[in-house]
Amino acid sequence: MKNDVNRQFRLKSRPVGRIKTSDFDLVKAPIPEPGAGEALVRVLYLSLDPTNRIWMSDMDQYMPPVEIGAVMRGGGIGVVVKSNTPAYQVGDHVSGLTGWQDYTIAGEKPELRMGVIPKGLPVPLPAMLGACGMTGLTAYFGLLELGQPKAGETVVVSAAAGAVGSVVGQIAKIKGCRVVGIAGGPEKCRHIVEDLGFDAAVDYKSADWKKKLAEATPNGIDVNFENVGGEIMEAVMARMNLFGRMPLCGMISGYNTGEPMRADFSPILMRRINIRGFIVTDFFPKFAEGARQLAEWVAQGKIKHEETIVDGLEEAPTAVNRLFDGQNVGKLIVKVADPESQ
Ligand code: NDP
Repeated sequence: MKNDVNRQFRLKSRPVGRIKTSDFDLVKAPIPEPGAGEALVRVLYLSLDPTNRIWMSDMDQYMPPVEIGAVMRGGGIGVVVKSNTPAYQVGDHVSGLTGWQDYTIAGEKPELRMGVIPKGLPVPLPAMLGACGMTGLTAYFGLLELGQPKAGETVVVSAAAGAVGSVVGQIAKIKGCRVVGIAGGPEKCRHIVEDLGFDAAVDYKSADWKKKLAEATPNGIDVNFENVGGEIMEAVMARMNLFGRMPLCGMISGYNTGEPMRADFSPILMRRINIRGFIVTDFFPKFAEGARQLAEWVAQGKIKHEETIVDGLEEAPTAVNRLFDGQNVGKLIVKVADPESQ
């Protein structure tokens, strides 16, 4: 659909608990005109991420919170439709912080810079937001650089059927590890074992999940790729081996509560666990290497990429809650415009 306005979701109030549509104003702004050294980008796909909830809040975080009245920050992919710079050619696909809107400006200035997606990649565009994009890179660097998994070791990952978790598990399998995923519900658990090749899955919504976790990790746990925090994190930490590693990627179970997350530190001391929090951008200088390897694994069928795609920019504020309700498998994406009709 071609638009003659730029629909924008602007943050009206900081959500309390779940995100509500009333936390945003949907504004019809004029389509921006690119200046010298700039290009106009039609947004095609929007990445919905747990961190959107963090950015909406004013909690202590790794980037400035989105200001009240500002366009909601969000990653995405778009197509260049008008250009005043050789850096972006009309028809180029670009990725970066597009925001929750129909159009954005890419430019030569650092704050406007977007990455041009190479042409002819053997993966569909939405996968460039997921397994071959930021979430894949999060899995790749968090697991390999910080988790340091060795063949034969046991790796546990939480939110295992989600965007990051599903890639973590598949990379750990490539590295010869025993991989146990923690996910909500029997269907997600079936999926990660039968379709993605995990060795075992633990449904944390079942009554006896801690017993199932113990059964699935008879030799303890060497690497815990932590996506959830809270009770799940504590149960996994309690089973970690001496000198275990724990890349702390996310703590989604706490994002809607606004409460500080508490945990028992004694296993860290007794088992000398190495916990390292990280943000994927810490590895920016190595992104090209990671992206190349992920694309190769996807092309070879060693990593299956999966996306849950919701149609329509107007759905963004409700769709983002799917991350907190567990109603996504793989990467959650909003399709803003049809790439074929641009
Ligand atoms: P996912 O695709 O994994 O979606 C989130 C999933 O989390 C849901 O599908 C749900 O799965 C699970 N979940 C939600 N609430 C709870 C809860 N209370 N308890 C247990 N599980 C829950 O999202 P991402 O892959 O994008 O993100 C996963 C984690 O990684 C997040 O914590 C995120 O903040 C973090 N992250 C960190 C980055 C970094 O640079 N450090 C970059 C990207 C993501 P289920 O049905 O199994 O409950």
